[in-house]
Amino acid sequence: MKDLNIITEQTIALPETPYQARHYINGAYLDSADGQVSDRMSPSHGVLVSQAALGSVIETEAAIGAARAAFDDGRWSRLSGKDRAAVLNKVADLIEAHEERLALIETLESGKPISQARGECGGAADLWRYAASLARTSHGESHNALGDDMLGVVIKEPIGVVSIITPWNFPFWILSQKLPFALAAGCTCVVKPSEMTPSTTAMLGEFLTEAGLPEGVCNIVLGYGDPVGSLMSTHADVDMVSFTGSTAVGKRISKAASDTLKKVALELGGKNPQVIFPDANLESAADAVTFGVYFNVGQCCNSSSRIIVHEDIADAFVNRVVEMSRHVAFGNPLNPDTQVGAIVTAEHQAKIDAYVSDAKEAGAEICIGGGSLQVAEIGSQFYQPTVVRGVTPDMAIVREEVFGPVLVVQTFKTMDEVIALTNDSDYGLSAGVWSENVHTCLEFSRRAQAGTIWTNTWMDGFPELAFGGVKQSGQGREIGQYGYDEFLEVKSLVMRVGDTRA
Ligand code: NAD
Repeated sequence: MKDLNIITEQTIALPETPYQARHYINGAYLDSADGQVSDRMSPSHGVLVSQAALGSVIETEAAIGAARAAFDDGRWSRLSGKDRAAVLNKVADLIEAHEERLALIETLESGKPISQARGECGGAADLWRYAASLARTSHGESHNALGDDMLGVVIKEPIGVVSIITPWNFPFWILSQKLPFALAAGCTCVVKPSEMTPSTTAMLGEFLTEAGLPEGVCNIVLGYGDPVGSLMSTHADVDMVSFTGSTAVGKRISKAASDTLKKVALELGGKNPQVIFPDANLESAADAVTFGVYFNVGQCCNSSSRIIVHEDIADAFVNRVVEMSRHVAFGNPLNPDTQVGAIVTAEHQAKIDAYVSDAKEAGAEICIGGGSLQVAEIGSQFYQPTVVRGVTPDMAIVREEVFGPVLVVQTFKTMDEVIALTNDSDYGLSAGVWSENVHTCLEFSRRAQAGTIWTNTWMDGFPELAFGGVKQSGQGREIGQYGYDEFLEVKSLVMRVGDTRA
């Protein structure tokens, strides 16, 4: 497609050999007992990026057993917060030192642009440092008004063994939103990355060992949802499951975990609107919409995959977004200028296309894009930046997560109408409002059903805040003090402090 800004030049070399990803159990790197391995072909260059051990019940049992033993003997949970923080800070240093290595493999396994992989992997170090600071904040409360001879103390203790299951779209970032917080709290962990992007999680094992994390405190099992993830969700020796992924799998995990009543924290999908009022700074809003929908090739839980724009400015605003879409640097992920890379798998590419084709057939207008694309020499697993308008609220493209570089446009006239459209969704992860009027922004922020509301910006995130969704976007919170507290259990100590012979 000649009117798109296609980047074919490659400035970063491919690795010479595929990465060999192995399980990390009780401090040792292991192959699978049955020797099973899966090959990951790069979505963009057609090269074999990695070969990963494929775990079975044997490795999963071993990892859970190691985590249980490490928790129960207190080799980590009974260390001071200061000592735990020192290890986590060393891991952060090692992540920074290996940022380029992590980013290259993340790009090749997922198809995302290298600049975004660098931001993700290098930026993750800050999550480890922030979590390290929280390791020193496990405190509860005391009650001294329970009667003269009574003292009550509420303390917080690590919840125990945590299963951490992550998706393919931000493998290293999402791991870092969970693991350092669980470790800071004193928990021990079993981690399973997506079978499509196992390598950066496997590499982390090297850093954990070098930083001095005691054996068995963090264990990594590679493999599929079934049997590895499902056993991690049902096993009686696991106290909590922390999952990020699709709503469908989140529901399965929640049901599977219910037999043992273990705690479940879920970060799931979204269908996140950016809402544009006529008095907004329209150039900034159009820029944020373009970023919000194309970042990570649209394969992002926080993708602003729909906009709801006021009728009076809809034509001009959509035209501007279409123009910006034409100029988004699109193509070779191994060029630092590229902003939109490849789609993770051919199956997923076909799914994106089906959403767009169905909408078109039902009468929607494709303003730009609307199909796959071959990028010279690097493959055909690309989807054009796409803007769709003329949709109705019942269409799948409006209601479901497309998880690709596809924006749908809805319009509104009044505040009540835009709130109704925003909340007419099974999801509630995030939403954004654009207006120069603080009352408009506040009213929208208070009435919109979502875990995060951005005002005159999109996708700014801070480790200090809480992240998570409402409705079918999930339960529980990550990062910040709230995220840390998810990994802590509350215990009340009731003490008679007067004359105990009375
Ligand atoms: P997915 O649900 O298919 O897989 C996620 C993980 O679950 C993988 O590791 C997979 O192997 C594992 N899994 C699959 N079946 C399982 C089972 N029965 N038991 C236990 N584990 C199982 O999701 P995906 O395609 O990897 O990722 C995309 C999805 O993740 C999107 O819906 C996206 O919105 C969501 N996501 C949410 C957030 C958030 O923070 N809310 C962040 C990133 C991605």
